[in-house]
Amino acid sequence: MSDLVVVRKEGLYCAAGDFYIDPWRPVARAVLTHAHADHARPGHGRYLAARAGATLVRTRLGDVGLDTLEYGERITHHGVTLSLHPAGHVLGSAQVRLEHRGEVWVVSGDYKLAPDASCAPFEPLRCDTFVTESTFGLPIYRWDPPAQVFDGVEHWWRDNADAGQASVLYCYALGKAQRVLLGVDASIGPIVCHGAVQTLNDAYRAAGVALPPTITVDQVGDPVDLRRALVLAPPSAAGSPWLKRFGEFHDAFASGWMRLRGTRRRRGVDRGFVLSDHADWPALLEAIGATGAGRIVVTHGETGPLIRWLREQGLDAAAFQTEYGDEDETAPPAAETGGA
Ligand SMILES: [Zn+2]
Ligand SMILES: [Zn+2]
Repeated sequence: MSDLVVVRKEGLYCAAGDFYIDPWRPVARAVLTHAHADHARPGHGRYLAARAGATLVRTRLGDVGLDTLEYGERITHHGVTLSLHPAGHVLGSAQVRLEHRGEVWVVSGDYKLAPDASCAPFEPLRCDTFVTESTFGLPIYRWDPPAQVFDGVEHWWRDNADAGQASVLYCYALGKAQRVLLGVDASIGPIVCHGAVQTLNDAYRAAGVALPPTITVDQVGDPVDLRRALVLAPPSAAGSPWLKRFGEFHDAFASGWMRLRGTRRRRGVDRGFVLSDHADWPALLEAIGATGAGRIVVTHGETGPLIRWLREQGLDAAAFQTEYGDEDETAPPAAETGGA
C-alpha cells in the first residue's frame, strides 16, 4: 500500500485526497496546522484550518479562501476522512488526522504538552503513522513548569518597576506574547506592546481569548508610567530606535533557546526565560508513545537524534525533508546572531 502522506517539492502531500498539509509552495488545496509563517504561507487556492485559528490565519494571510472545521469534526474528501485536533502550540493549532482504508496517519505540525491558557490542550491521538516535529529533539531540552517561569518574569518585572525602569521582554509575537500576558500578574504595571504584538493580541481577543489590557507606546499617557511597564516586543525590535522611548530599561528574552547559554550570551540580554511553545525532549517521547504508532516520520528541528532514539526502541523512524522552521522559535540558534 502506498503512503498516505509523501513529500513533494510543494510540501507534504496526501495523494489519495489530493491536498497538501502546510505546503511551502503554492498549491490548489492546503490544510493548515497553524498560523506561524513557515506553516501558513500565502498563495494557495483554498485553505482549511481549525475554526479556533481562523482569525489568526486571516490576520496573517488576509482575505484568503478559508474553510474551517471545529476540532474533532470529520469530513471525507476522495475517500480520505480528515479531522483536526488540538496541538497545544498556539491558538487554533491542529494536528491533522487522516484515515484511508482503515489506515490512520496524524500530522502534528508543531505541538507542546505543557499547559497554555491561550489555546486548547494537546490531544493524544492513536494512529499507525505519526508525523512529528522535533524542534527541541535533544535530551538537553527540558522545560521548567510554566508557572515557575512566569513567577520569574513577575519578580524581574516588579524589581525593575520598583527601581523605576521598564522591563522589555522579547518574545515571538504570535503565541508566546499572549501566553506571557495570560501568565503574569497584570496589576504590577502597565503592559505596553509593540505594534506587531498588539495586532496579534487583537486577533486573539477577536477569537474570544480574554487577554489583560495592553497598550501601544503612543497610548501611554504619563511617560512616568513607562518606568513601571512590562514591554512585549518581537525579537526583531532589539536594537531598534523604537526602544529609545523607554530610556534606560532592563531586557530579557523568553524562548526555549534560552536553555542554551551561548544563545543567551549572543542575545546580549540581561535575562533569559526558558519558555517554549514546542515539546521538550520528554514531551516528544511521551506524545510519540501515546500515539501507539509503529512508524514515525520526523519533519523539522533536531531530526537525527530523535530518529536514532526511536530506532533504538525498535520503531520504524525516518525524516521528511521540509521547509519548516524558518520563523519563530524554530529558527536555529546560529541564525539568531544576525541581529534580527
Ligand atoms: Zn509553529
Ligand atoms: Zn514549525
